[in-house]
Amino acid sequence: MSEPESITSLEAKTRPWWLRIPLTLQIVIALVLAVSLGIVLGAGNPSPDNATFITNLAIPAELVLKALRALATPLILVAVLHTFMTTNIPGTAGRRLAVLLLTNTTAAILIGLLVANVLRPGSWGSLAVTPTGTEIPAQSVDPWGLVKDAVPDAILKPLVDNNVIQLIVIALSFGIVLRALKSEQIAQGKTGYQPIEDVIGILFEAVIRILNWVIALVPLAVFGIVAKTVAEKGFAPFQSLGAFIVAVLVALTLQACYYLTRVKIGSWVSPLRFLVGGSDAFITAFSTSSSTVTMPITFEVLQTKIGLRESSASLGALVGANFNNDGTALYEAMSALYISQVLGQHLSLGQQLIVILTSIFASVGAAGIPNAGLVTMTLVFTSVGLPTQYIALLVTVDWFLDRCRTALNVMGDMTVSALLDGKKPRTLDEA
Ligand code: ASP
Repeated sequence: MSEPESITSLEAKTRPWWLRIPLTLQIVIALVLAVSLGIVLGAGNPSPDNATFITNLAIPAELVLKALRALATPLILVAVLHTFMTTNIPGTAGRRLAVLLLTNTTAAILIGLLVANVLRPGSWGSLAVTPTGTEIPAQSVDPWGLVKDAVPDAILKPLVDNNVIQLIVIALSFGIVLRALKSEQIAQGKTGYQPIEDVIGILFEAVIRILNWVIALVPLAVFGIVAKTVAEKGFAPFQSLGAFIVAVLVALTLQACYYLTRVKIGSWVSPLRFLVGGSDAFITAFSTSSSTVTMPITFEVLQTKIGLRESSASLGALVGANFNNDGTALYEAMSALYISQVLGQHLSLGQQLIVILTSIFASVGAAGIPNAGLVTMTLVFTSVGLPTQYIALLVTVDWFLDRCRTALNVMGDMTVSALLDGKKPRTLDEA
């Protein structure tokens, strides 16, 4: 999946100067300007004369979130199809890989939910107002209902309804079948699959490009929503965001400890060797916020610095990386719980189960590019009836937390590679 990288560099040359300022810096500038404007507008005591202007400040954030919601499902569909069409996964290794990916992602989400339930970052400060019509509908645990709901009424319905679970079912079914057809055709010397593969590749590029346009508007959205919040409610709403950052960092650290324990128990690699050898990949992930851009470095350090076999390195870092975003899964689940706490509408056990399921699928569908987790997060929120406009608040801290969860996404891929490599180091013959 080198597309996002090439698109970024291609577009970078044709961008106007203000878009060439790094996104992080743009967001910081937007934050400073927004806080200043919020203070000028009253910082919690706005004058009624400015009421309409202040309300309208939320429009860019609303539009950006609407666009992200609309893009999330096509992104998941084409990303999964693209991965199946362009990568080759051998049978047994494929099954082991699937089990490892699922257990690690589930562990990440459970750690995230545990930390969010124990530390309750959303109750450290409050947004004071609950917008009307945002009550979370009561839901009970109904495993059979979940299975029934996973099968869509019509093929295109999940795209229209933004239903991520049904969409993954469709994407996986078509992905597996298209892959099998491609392999059969290659064996028969035919090339009929090629146009489909090309179309999927082009569509994937197109969705990522549109996503880049929307992401370019994020600083404007941050500016509007922060200025509006400061003007209307002062600084109280941001208190709990600090607590949220701390809670996410605690959860990511626990997940990293989980990886190191698994690597120690399940592979020949020592945790120290893993950390030191992988440091280039972690630093690149942190500085680029993109596990896809980091992918070649991850692959390289796994072989040259940690010393894994090429097959394990490629399965974990090249194939697994497309599906495996544990940091994103942990973050999405924590965000849903955090916002529900902020709103004082606590999610029941059944609803948290739905959060676990949708976060697994949403993280599978998240592309390895900056801020992709925010896009698929809309689906997690919708699944338990949380108002998605609160994601705009999270955008203000996403430039930092995205870096942290991307580093963990990469660490997750490397852990899978180490576990696939097994308990015996490669011999000189294998090198
Ligand atoms: N930036 C992350 C990655 O590249 C995805 C996300 O936004 O969670 O892995």
